[in-house]
Amino acid sequence: MPLTIVMYHYVRDLARSRYPLIKGRDIAEFRGQLDHIARHHHVVTTEAVVEAVKGGEPLPANAAWLTFDDGYLEHFTQVFPLLHERGWQGAFFPPVKTVVDRELLDVNMVHFILAAQPDPTPVIAAIKAYVDTRQGDGIAPFEAYWREFAQAGRFDAAEVIFIKRVLQHALPETPRKALCRQLFRSFVSVDPAAFAQELYMSVDQLRMMVRCGMTVGGHGVNHYWLNRLSPAAQEAEVDASRAFLGSLGVAAKDWVMCYPYGAHDDSLRALLARKDCAIGLTTRVAVAEIGVDAPLMLPRLDTNDLPLTP
Ligand SMILES: [Zn+2]
Repeated sequence: MPLTIVMYHYVRDLARSRYPLIKGRDIAEFRGQLDHIARHHHVVTTEAVVEAVKGGEPLPANAAWLTFDDGYLEHFTQVFPLLHERGWQGAFFPPVKTVVDRELLDVNMVHFILAAQPDPTPVIAAIKAYVDTRQGDGIAPFEAYWREFAQAGRFDAAEVIFIKRVLQHALPETPRKALCRQLFRSFVSVDPAAFAQELYMSVDQLRMMVRCGMTVGGHGVNHYWLNRLSPAAQEAEVDASRAFLGSLGVAAKDWVMCYPYGAHDDSLRALLARKDCAIGLTTRVAVAEIGVDAPLMLPRLDTNDLPLTP
């Protein structure tokens, strides 16, 4: 049975926001998309999806499941009221570090570096200068990174993908984090700790959403590419995600994991199966087929794949 799983990240009043160039769903467009979903789909709950995946009660026709990644404050201020008004449930996936530690993730630093400096040229120049002066210590020549990672993606030019991959995982962790902070400070010019306070929701806000019927699933602690971690490091991420969900009252059985960057591997999925995870959400682009797709590898559609008007 088909299930349209819709994936959202930033949802904000883009034109009147501080960073109008951030890649996100404008709130007016979001309202239009909810109208479209109301007309053409039947919004289902996490509980109903878990039940269907386990072979129980099937989903209604044209089922849609709304998922929101990364724990942004606007999910509380903008999205939650609109879902609540319609009597719909959303599934929210905050990394532990964002809501508990209020720490600005590298992935978000990169988004705002690119929004503050839309021309990638000076950002790439700064990366090159950093890499050139730190040869050795596991840092390869700039050209090697360029050859491997400057490949256009679904929504991004090759230059932008290069910046993202170098700062997400290509460089070793310590210099990568240092470079990310340096670029954030020079192009965005805001204190990362203050920025995180404004970007992410708090645990109390998350708890309120849960009390009002929204659901929460795992999205890791550090928002790492989990397929690039050792099995032991994968287990640490999964256990801490699960402990965090437990603190919110989410049952330890039949929970949902949403893979950061959609990245997973055999070892991670085997681990999740042992830890009673019922569903794994990827970023593979398709309408899910419950009963056909592996439950720990369900595909999603991006909000950009759905119409914005009824
Ligand atoms: Zn994410």
